[in-house]
Amino acid sequence: MLGVDVALLPQPNEDIEDEMLWEHSSNGGLTVTSAHEAIRAKGNKPFWASVLWNAILHPRTAAIGWKIFRGTMHTDDKLQSMKFKLASRCITCKQQCETQQHLLYECEFAKKCWNYVTTTFQLH
Ligand SMILES: [Zn+2]
Repeated sequence: MLGVDVALLPQPNEDIEDEMLWEHSSNGGLTVTSAHEAIRAKGNKPFWASVLWNAILHPRTAAIGWKIFRGTMHTDDKLQSMKFKLASRCITCKQQCETQQHLLYECEFAKKCWNYVTTTFQLH
């Protein structure tokens, strides 16, 4: 009726027990890694991903870098936006509110640090 001759189909091997196989792995075994890989959202990697997620950087350093690139450091302005009531002041210059932008780029101390690093490693 469907154009399939049932007699020509392979017969099940009754000597071998059926077993469950995980289709997302090469050996059929379910692992946390293969399950995560199967369900995670896949998209374009940001330019900084290969810099942060490698064996050279300590995981703690990579995590801090990830927070910086994602803009999720818990600076005072972020805490205030989460309804924490606190006065904000940069811990180094004591002149401005603590924001990620200020801490990393605008603060005079940060500028001196960047200047030292770029001069020492001749980065321009
Ligand atoms: Zn400052």
